[in-house]
This record gives sequence, C-alpha cells and structure tokens, in this order.
Amino acid sequence: MGIIKQKEKGLLIVVSGPSGAGKDTVVSEVLKKKDIDAWVSISMTSRSPRGSEENGKDYFFVTKEEFEENIEKGNFLEYATYNDNYYGTPKNKIDEYLNKGIDVILIIEIQGALQIKELIPEALFIFIMPPSMEELINRLVNRGTDKPEKIISRFKRAYEEINEVTKYNYVVVNDDLEKSVDKVAAIMKAEKC
Ligand code: ADP
Ligand code: 5GP
Repeated sequence: MGIIKQKEKGLLIVVSGPSGAGKDTVVSEVLKKKDIDAWVSISMTSRSPRGSEENGKDYFFVTKEEFEENIEKGNFLEYATYNDNYYGTPKNKIDEYLNKGIDVILIIEIQGALQIKELIPEALFIFIMPPSMEELINRLVNRGTDKPEKIISRFKRAYEEINEVTKYNYVVVNDDLEKSVDKVAAIMKAEKC
C-alpha cells in the first residue's frame, strides 16, 4: 500500500536589522543557492523610489493616501512607519506560497517583525547585525542611496533597533559576506530538520 506524503508547508522567515547592515545583499545571495526555494515578499511603501528601484520589483510605490486606504481595507499582514514613511507587507501572496511549500522571506524593520511575532510565533526570526557602528555608517554612506540627513536618521534608529536583538531566534553578524550567506542558508535548512 502506498503512503501519501503531504507536501510540507513553507517556512515564514523574517529578516531584520538596521538599515545598511546588509539584509538585501545577504538575502539576494542566499536565493542564488541551488538548494534554497524561497520567495521574497514585495512590500508596499509610501517612500519615493531611489536609484534604479522599480515599481512592482523592489516595492509597490504608492502615495500616503493609497497606503492608508490599504490599511483600512485590512490588506497588510503588518505595517509600520519608518523615517516618516509607511512600509507594509501585503497579505495576498503569502499563504499561496507557503501552501505550495515555498519559504517566504520578509525583509522588514523591527516594529513589523514584532507584529509578525505576535501573529505567527512559529516563524523564524533572523537579525542581521553590522560588525560595528563604524562599519554601519560606512556602508550607509558608500551605498550612495540616501541623502546625508536620511543617513543620520537611519543610523540613529539603528541604536534602538539593536536593542531588540534578543527577540530574534538568530543573530548573524554580517562581516564577511560569504560566511553570512552560508549561515543564513544553514539556519533556514536547519529549521526544517
Ligand atoms: P540593508 O538591506 O540592510 O539596508 P544593503 O544590503 O543595502 O543593506 O547593504 C548596505 C551596503 O553594504 C551595500 O552597499 C552593500 O553592498 C554593502 N554590504 C552588504 N554586506 C556587506 C559585507 N558583508 N561587507 C561589506 N559590504 C557589505
Ligand atoms: P528602505 O527605505 O531602506 O528600503 O527600508 C527602510 C526599512 O524598512 C528597512 O529596515 C526595511 O527592511 C524596512 N521595510 C521594508 N519593507 C517593509 C515592510 O513591508 N514592513 C516593515 N515593517 N518594514 C519594511
């Protein structure tokens, strides 16, 4: 008699950490690994696109009013304000991917991560930590995407964010990029064992 193996549900993975710590860089490298099957949720934001960012690829860029309409309609799994702008995770696609057995990665700031922790405590919470505050400011400056006043507010915010680190399951200090990528991939795999 055959045994029917039910496909396992995907894992919800929350990746947070201060702006400039390397979250996007690490996650995009993790996705290149052959044995990783994950989808990164595309957030909605009221901030303006910067550099080469594209609507529907990097974010869904909307006005504050459009974002607020989405809040009223209950379209977000979580949302938060960061540097005077809204950022939120649209609900619609998450369950679809998880039910297909594909892991879903949310790259979100700390207030949003704590909302997810309340809603879905079994999710995996990974904090990407910069090797030092000096290196963090260097990365924010060298990235070249933000004006000096925005860099300062992101850097100040980093101190508050780092205070919340104990609420995460894992902390990865992003010093050597390759090692950080291997660690995040290993954590994702280990979590399924
Ligand atoms: P975040 O998504 O956390 O805001 P990014 O992924 O945009 O951060 O990275 C910020 C900057 O730091 C980018 O210019 C990126 O190329 C660089 N960076 C990321 N990880 C490392 C690393 N391990 N070593 C050196 N530079 C890094
Ligand atoms: P940035 O302006 O650098 O793209 O993003 C600013 C911060 O907002 C980053 O920490 C980023 O991870 C976070 N962020 C991006 N999307 C979301 C989201 O959907 N929800 C929350 N809470 N934070 C988000």
